[in-house]
Amino acid sequence: MTLDPAPNTTVPEPQRHVFPPPMERNYRIEGGRIQTRSLEAHIVDHCNLTCAECCSLSPLLPEWYAEPAPIEADLRRAATVLQPRVFKLVGGEPLLHPALVEIIERVRATGIAPVTSLTTNGLKLGDMPDAFWQAVDALTISRYPKPRLTPDLVAHIERQAARFGVRLNWKVQDTFTLMDRAQALADRDEAQRVFHDCWIRERCHMIRDGMFYTCTRPAHFHTLFNGEKDFQSDGLPLRDEAGLLDAMLAYLSRETPLEACLHCHGGSAPVRAHRILKRAEVAALQARYR
Ligand code: SF4
Ligand code: SF4
Repeated sequence: MTLDPAPNTTVPEPQRHVFPPPMERNYRIEGGRIQTRSLEAHIVDHCNLTCAECCSLSPLLPEWYAEPAPIEADLRRAATVLQPRVFKLVGGEPLLHPALVEIIERVRATGIAPVTSLTTNGLKLGDMPDAFWQAVDALTISRYPKPRLTPDLVAHIERQAARFGVRLNWKVQDTFTLMDRAQALADRDEAQRVFHDCWIRERCHMIRDGMFYTCTRPAHFHTLFNGEKDFQSDGLPLRDEAGLLDAMLAYLSRETPLEACLHCHGGSAPVRAHRILKRAEVAALQARYR
């Protein structure tokens, strides 16, 4: 679509996040539900960018789209014991999902969280129909040094957000955390220390295929390793059964590291300047896992 700059529109100053954020491990229960910061579902694995050190491993994963109905079913079970402040649709690039509006509406119908947000690189926001803007409550838009969002696109986003009452969170992403380990840890005590110190385990709770995970890494490692290593047992099955609340509390406060932690440096690892992987680099990285 053509994007006309709005008159007198200025490009907003993006916010810089403070890292590492404080730990939030004291989970309260209210109304029979554990109060959490957020919960997310990754609704596509692929992306229209290939950022080095993408924590969702998108450049390495095949094209994949989540089915809307199973997401709703997982959230209905999760909502019996969890009450996150926000539910996030993430990817890959979630704007690539053709049933995105249906997914947002199904999420809302579960009552899982008062706010439904979407995390995006923003490049496709100029193509989104009004029904999308109507459905979503909030957007987190990553701002990379390259490719930059054009001033016209930023103006369009600002205009649509104001028109439909969508809250915008512009997030500078000029550095990426070096989370992936070239060589898996053999030392489980070291993995336990990484897990203990990792702030991501409170901030990136995720549902996928009937499981709840304390972070997003196990589900993506499971796809990356083609099921050759078991990362699904890092999660908690979401079952319709008494005892799910206690099981969830025990899972959230566990000290045993995830299998995924053996492959991960955690959230406080050093950072590197953002860059886009070239096609040959992506192919070389993918070849490691075939
Ligand atoms: S835009 Fe986000 S999901 Fe896509 S490759 Fe970059 S970091 Fe990963
Ligand atoms: S795999 Fe472990 S260390 Fe890595 S982000 Fe998840 S909890 Fe943190």
